[in-house]
Amino acid sequence: MPGEFALIERIRARVRARPDVALGIGDDAALLDVPAGHQLVVTSDTLVAGVHFPPETAPADIGWKALAVNLSDLAAMAAAPAWCTLALTLPEADDVWLDGFLDGFFELADEHGVSLVGGDTTHGPLSITITAHGFVPEGQALRRDGAKAGDEVWVTGTLGDAAGALQQWRARGPFSAKLRYRLDRPTPRIEAGLALRGLATAGIDLSDGLAADLGHVLTASGLGARIDLGRLPTSRTLADHFDETARWPLQLSGGDDYELCFTAPASAAFAIEQALSERGVTATVIGQLEPQPGLRCTTPDGADYAPPRAGYQHFQGVH
Ligand code: ADP
Ligand code: MG
Repeated sequence: MPGEFALIERIRARVRARPDVALGIGDDAALLDVPAGHQLVVTSDTLVAGVHFPPETAPADIGWKALAVNLSDLAAMAAAPAWCTLALTLPEADDVWLDGFLDGFFELADEHGVSLVGGDTTHGPLSITITAHGFVPEGQALRRDGAKAGDEVWVTGTLGDAAGALQQWRARGPFSAKLRYRLDRPTPRIEAGLALRGLATAGIDLSDGLAADLGHVLTASGLGARIDLGRLPTSRTLADHFDETARWPLQLSGGDDYELCFTAPASAAFAIEQALSERGVTATVIGQLEPQPGLRCTTPDGADYAPPRAGYQHFQGVH
């Protein structure tokens, strides 16, 4: 695209290179040193304007979230993040937009010591693809297929805030800035993922909603689960805006939480609580794994509850 090299230079000027980056932005490809005894963990996610975020989203929020969703995948593998690449498709060479985007992107990258090592810059409808790389000691990755019958099911943080924000945005009525912040600025649970090495039996990050994502763990591990809806961790803000029965669909099927869901034997519960609280992360047991496949939810009254299916949602022209 016209002005491509000026844009790349604008990006390169803000990079903080780690010592394990032998060659970063500027050649045909990057050269990177992987520490001995570790496996390289690689993940990629794309955000498309109007599909994954409302078109009017602030550029800094887009920059943050595009990286956050990738770091969340590394967290779910118990990986320590190291590097990323950034493929940007832009409708125009807009320095102001790019600087805003880079503010959010580098705020999160620098917080986690992630170096940007390369990418691609092209012309077209706004779309961002990030590939993130991390390390895990050989054999210690947290996979989806390691859960055991009888394990407890845990989640970090609180569930449903981002989905609550989306529902308010769609209704075009009163909205909570706190909930909207959770949608725009998800916190990748990197520290929690690292703390769960050797303690959790399986894990996943919550991008599509608890029911769908826990469902992936259940399928991969050949098990089922019973979830107690009364134990779903709920922020005060969500509780202020949605009553209990309005919250359950948000918490089970809403998506965009970017919390971790993991499984562990009850004997590990004390060590898990301690390891996570040392890192300032709350975590809650919400249910238990059972041999019978499928996800079953119980209300506080003891009734069965079927989680609603999440519908496909996009953001083009909703306003
Ligand atoms: P090539 O034509 O060899 O692919 P490019 O002109 O696309 O090279 O890129 C030049 C250098 O700039 C490469 O090192 C590439 O990784 C880097 N780069 C291009 N776009 C970006 C971007 N959006 N973010 C980070 N690095 C980028
Ligand atoms: Mg290129």
